[in-house]
Amino acid sequence: MDDELKRLVRKVALQNAFEHDGQTRDKIVLSKILGTRPELRNRVKEINAEISAIVSDVNKLSLQQQQSEIEKNFPELLALKEKIEERVGLPPLENAENGKVVTRFPPEPNGYPHIGHAKAAIIDEEYARMYNGKLILRFDDTNPENERLEYYAAIKVGLDWLGVKYDKVKNTSDDIELIYQKGLELINSSTAYVCTCKQEVISKNRREMKYCKCSTLDQNQNNDRWKKMFDKFKAGEAIVRFRGNMSSENTVMRDPVLFRIIDGKHPLLGNRYRVWPSYDFAVVIEDSIDGVTHAFRTKEYELRNELYYAILDALKLRKPKMMEFSRLEFKGMPVSKRVLKPLIESGKVSWYDDPRLPTLEALKRRGITPEAIRKFVLSLGFTKADTLAPFDVLESFNRKIIDEQSTRLFMVKDPKKLVVTGLPTSTITIPNHPTKDLGKRNVTVDENFYLSFDDTKDLKPESKIRLMGIGNVQIKTVSDHLTGQYTGDELVEEILKVQWVSQKNYQKLKIQIPKALFIDDNFNEDSLEEIEVYVEPYFLELKEGSEIQFIRFGYCRKESASLAIFTHK
Ligand code: ATP
Ligand code: MG
Repeated sequence: MDDELKRLVRKVALQNAFEHDGQTRDKIVLSKILGTRPELRNRVKEINAEISAIVSDVNKLSLQQQQSEIEKNFPELLALKEKIEERVGLPPLENAENGKVVTRFPPEPNGYPHIGHAKAAIIDEEYARMYNGKLILRFDDTNPENERLEYYAAIKVGLDWLGVKYDKVKNTSDDIELIYQKGLELINSSTAYVCTCKQEVISKNRREMKYCKCSTLDQNQNNDRWKKMFDKFKAGEAIVRFRGNMSSENTVMRDPVLFRIIDGKHPLLGNRYRVWPSYDFAVVIEDSIDGVTHAFRTKEYELRNELYYAILDALKLRKPKMMEFSRLEFKGMPVSKRVLKPLIESGKVSWYDDPRLPTLEALKRRGITPEAIRKFVLSLGFTKADTLAPFDVLESFNRKIIDEQSTRLFMVKDPKKLVVTGLPTSTITIPNHPTKDLGKRNVTVDENFYLSFDDTKDLKPESKIRLMGIGNVQIKTVSDHLTGQYTGDELVEEILKVQWVSQKNYQKLKIQIPKALFIDDNFNEDSLEEIEVYVEPYFLELKEGSEIQFIRFGYCRKESASLAIFTHK
């Protein structure tokens, strides 16, 4: 193989490895080479061996090393990659003018923010930024039964953590008087009426496409009933309905609800109001008066668009452009409050920050970074196809970010004793990261070690192992504990490298390993594995919230002196 071809193979291998967490494969590289150099097809046998050698060489490099080699020798790859990333981001917005775009994120303060909210908020913010526009955070708080002060705060905390910055914050309930005014305007123009039919009758008429007698009331009667909604009628006795079309194919248009009576105490307004706008009405008025130019919501609302524009027409209000994207959810990790609430109330998960949940609190505790969430959301783009995303896609974005910041530590699982004779030193200095300067630590040892059972189960007398950071040991005896002799520290390939902790100096630690919460719609009773391990005492010196990579185990986030949560491999 000539030098030019070798360089090409190295380039292809580096690019593919770098894009796949540092690992590539012979076959992949070969097919890419043949794709660009088809004339090599009849030399496959000959070039295969060289490819294997180069691939195994590249796979041995850390991601960091691969990146520096690409930067040094193949900078054109990085430019290419940036272009690709740009392309998979968000598409341009229709009718968007620089400086004039206004988007909004409208959560209902009825629960803790989750990955689905993150998707919506990030897309809202990215578009506002893309066009030098504005993002409004609007609490859609018109259902006092479900809303609590605690949730307004939790949503703000979640957005702060995500790094989503809004230009204005408001509550739909701030505008309640104005929303009444708009409701009355519809009543007075006969586009809305007050209906006192029973719920069953309303549903039956909707199914049968029939108008009810309330829809024929005149304006005075409607005005009279509207006033009574504020004091005389009880909850459930009267609603305001939009005059849509009872025979519309779109069931949403069959005279939908604009206002209903709810007697619950509102977290901000207390008991001052009892007539509350429906979601459908509030969102229209708010989007329009807030100057929103582009409004996004999830796809299941698509049928409501006809109503959205019909109300705007009836009130002669300015029209925002409404667009839909898919709901985001992880496999086995539901976001819906309907599912999460019972799990918490029954004690099956501890709280909203339980690491098995897709809430922002939980993702944070588990060691997922906000940067990774943003990259992940943008990588999905603005699609309508439902995304039941595999969690490992988010993990791979996260891994690239935390790898550089994670302190490497030794950890021993199912400890097995090893006594080593002939050690030359009792103080060992170990770097905290293989390539980044994250400092070093000194570990004092004597002849007594613990190894993980898994690393020792195949050892026999005469087996050789390397204690990482120390040197080589030849095993002498194996029984309920092992003994061995130090044989020097020269690097020997093909020798099992094991991590260890010192028997006189170690720390017990519990690690929680979150697994899928649901398997095929059934709650997974084994969704939170807990293991007890021994780690280096240096663990105690790390700050709470630090990310650690326990060598040959995976990334974990330090929760406290005695608990860590498994992030991912
Ligand atoms: P839920 O009550 O199931 O949590 P929701 O849609 O009622 O969901 P809201 O608080 O009303 O929750 O949502 C605020 C914004 O976040 C809305 O624009 C909504 O479309 C969006 N959103 C909510 N859940 C998701 C999701 N899973 N994926 C994408 N966007 C979502
Ligand atoms: Mg909601």
